[in-house]
Amino acid sequence: MTSEVDAVGRLPEEWREAMQRLGEKPFRAEQVFRWIHERGVLDPDQMTDLGKPLRERLKADGFAPPAKVAEVHAAADGTRKLVLELAHGARVECVIIPMTDLADDADASAAPEDDEEDAAEATEKTRITLCVSTQYGCAMGCVFCASGQAGLQRGLTASEIVSQVLVSKRYLQPNEELKNLVFMGMGEPLHHYDETARAIRLLTHPLARGMSPRRITVSTVGLVPGIARLGADFGGKVGLAVSLHAPNDDIRDRIMPMNRKFPIVELMRALREYPLPMRRRITIEYTLMDHVNDGEAEARELVTLLRGLRVKVNLIPMNPISASELKAPSGARVAAFQRVLSEAGLSCFVRTRRGDEVSAACGQLAIADDLVRKKRERDALRESNKP
Ligand code: SAH
Repeated sequence: MTSEVDAVGRLPEEWREAMQRLGEKPFRAEQVFRWIHERGVLDPDQMTDLGKPLRERLKADGFAPPAKVAEVHAAADGTRKLVLELAHGARVECVIIPMTDLADDADASAAPEDDEEDAAEATEKTRITLCVSTQYGCAMGCVFCASGQAGLQRGLTASEIVSQVLVSKRYLQPNEELKNLVFMGMGEPLHHYDETARAIRLLTHPLARGMSPRRITVSTVGLVPGIARLGADFGGKVGLAVSLHAPNDDIRDRIMPMNRKFPIVELMRALREYPLPMRRRITIEYTLMDHVNDGEAEARELVTLLRGLRVKVNLIPMNPISASELKAPSGARVAAFQRVLSEAGLSCFVRTRRGDEVSAACGQLAIADDLVRKKRERDALRESNKP
């Protein structure tokens, strides 16, 4: 490969340089960029308006599709999970989620400026949210999360992140439309900022009629410098979701190691400073764990903590993972927690589980669980080899 950035990860200006190197006219750059990012064509042979010599040169330049679909699983509720194989043995899952449940409707209404646009479109289309990964494994170490327990294997390139979207689009039904993209799969997007930001630039590029940044949500454990960077680089247009999961440092330190580095006061300051557009809200994710963070006292503390912030709260009863004994609270405890928030006027939804049977619900991504098992086997082996 002659360029540091691989073909699918190149921005138009980088394509212009690449074309110059290949002795081609600059307008070819735009053509190739649109083939990839507007039409999702990742094979130069299918770029029919390019001459054969250029197609051959692109292939010789190292143009290869960054992801291969290894498995497709469909759940009865319409959720589909694709397992993609990437370079160097990395595997990630992308989850295609039809938006039909209450919480999703509520999410949509939280962004009223989108509604006019939606009304103008064919209303029968099923809106799809796509969940993508930014890393293979994760370095953040959250105790309730399978990826966190697996540890970081490697970050994905922008090209691998974007490919998850391009490939998933091929699995949409004609009546489905990709509406929202959430960076809520494996990994911590803000711990892998450069490739994440590049992926967002590629996905939103006007040249390929990319999606609006408002339809993209980046979910983070709360890496304060990363939140500031994201806000500055995209002017607050990219949606922000924060995995809070606790109303105080005491609890949060125990379940999310990153909190010791960026405690709640600093995180709250970063959220207040995020240049959120009018009428938009930050999503607060709160995974409920039985008798860990789910008491009414914690709910009241959460209300106080979030006062004055433009937020909506997503409550997620924890999905069980093999690496942890922690579990979801009873329905009654979930309801009691939610009642405290709602009565205090916080907009708050319990996220219903989607695609449980294909193991696509957050935090229990099967691949992450698999990584945990392998890690345990390695650790056990090391232990048994000790003198
Ligand atoms: N690193 C990012 C994005 C990946 S996780 C982040 O932490 O936000 C996406 C969401 O799933 C996060 O809110 C995460 O805390 C949550 N999650 C992880 N494991 C879970 C589990 N076992 N049950 C429920 N939610 C979980």
